[in-house]
Amino acid sequence: MAVCNTFEQLKKALNYAATNSPFYRQLFADHQISVDDIQSMEDFQRLPFSDKYDLRRAYPLGLQAVPDEEVVRVHSSSGTTGKAIIIPYTAKDVDDWATMFARCYATAGITRKDRIQITPGYGLWTAGIGFQAGCEKLGAMAVPVGPGNTDKQLQLMVDLHSTVLCATSSYALLLAEEVKKRKLGDQISLRKGIIGSERWGDLMRKRIATELNIELFDIYGLTEVYGPGIAVDCPAHNGMHYWSDYLYLEVIDPVTGQNLPDGQIGELVITTLCKEAAPLVRYRTHDLTRIIPGKCSCGCEYPRIDRILGRTDDMIKVKGVNIYPGQIEDTLKLVPGLSSEYQIILEHVSGRDRMTLRVESVRGASKEAVSAAVISTFKAKIGIKIDCEVLELGELPRSEKKSKRVFDNRYQ
Ligand code: ZN
Repeated sequence: MAVCNTFEQLKKALNYAATNSPFYRQLFADHQISVDDIQSMEDFQRLPFSDKYDLRRAYPLGLQAVPDEEVVRVHSSSGTTGKAIIIPYTAKDVDDWATMFARCYATAGITRKDRIQITPGYGLWTAGIGFQAGCEKLGAMAVPVGPGNTDKQLQLMVDLHSTVLCATSSYALLLAEEVKKRKLGDQISLRKGIIGSERWGDLMRKRIATELNIELFDIYGLTEVYGPGIAVDCPAHNGMHYWSDYLYLEVIDPVTGQNLPDGQIGELVITTLCKEAAPLVRYRTHDLTRIIPGKCSCGCEYPRIDRILGRTDDMIKVKGVNIYPGQIEDTLKLVPGLSSEYQIILEHVSGRDRMTLRVESVRGASKEAVSAAVISTFKAKIGIKIDCEVLELGELPRSEKKSKRVFDNRYQ
């Protein structure tokens, strides 16, 4: 099993994109790049990036690099703002994706004997069907419930003895709270959770793991690059292995675009090595992570990236300080008596930024004490003075999709 990218592999992928993809033919022409001139990794690192904004301009099928008769399916990015990005797949792309996803399950210790309850959505969005195709490729039993319908979800979980839960972290938390409320803990057979699609903190992780009595594994992916299943947590829980025989990963400084050495946090950039219908070269994910140097103690030879630490778009600048969502969660962990939920409200008052952190206090903790602890911890760890509003447990919204946490009301 080849786990290392060679320059030859990368060059082959580059040639393929430059020859077959109308999008990359145009991009390279615009930058007066001839692929023949790319002779080393240094040359490769000078190639232009592509971004979701560029991909949107190729709407609807400007990324398609194969004849129509070879396309078997399309998916679309969820795109809450602007035009969606349509990604076509060949039969081989669909199969490669399932192979990667089956590897993710296997890496998490899931076997053919497992029953995998799939709660992410189906349809244009890649999530649900990716979880299912990987499950079937592995040979486990899929319970494809899709999102929502919590009553039915819990009933099937109990009756079918589902052993694995696939969900977003928000929905896993909602299910965990329902299981506790309905006292179903003794009746469920879950042992593992595969959790994808958004940044989540250790507090939330602990609550889900405790209430459902499961081991949790992060899974990573994005529609533009197959979908979920391109990287996964392993039993060592020290970063996610990614499938380097299918993908070439770089980490760059999101501001300068320069490549960063392994170990440093920056923006993840992905080049697909064998994607046929919509190859990507140096695609900026806007996800913040780092490549973890060295080998994993689990024995898996595939390289690792860290958990996703946030989005470059979510990076907020308050009083001149750059703050990542991950830093906020790490800070909240230091204050006892908080739930894992929070919201950030940003305002511009009398010519100055004001940041209010809304948190939930678990029963029994004094609101004044919690507020004072949050304010002083934030000042010590991040270096700015904030306001803190303490709510009761359950007052902040939980969602089945992604929770919006930052409300920037400045400059409106
Ligand atoms: Zn490992």
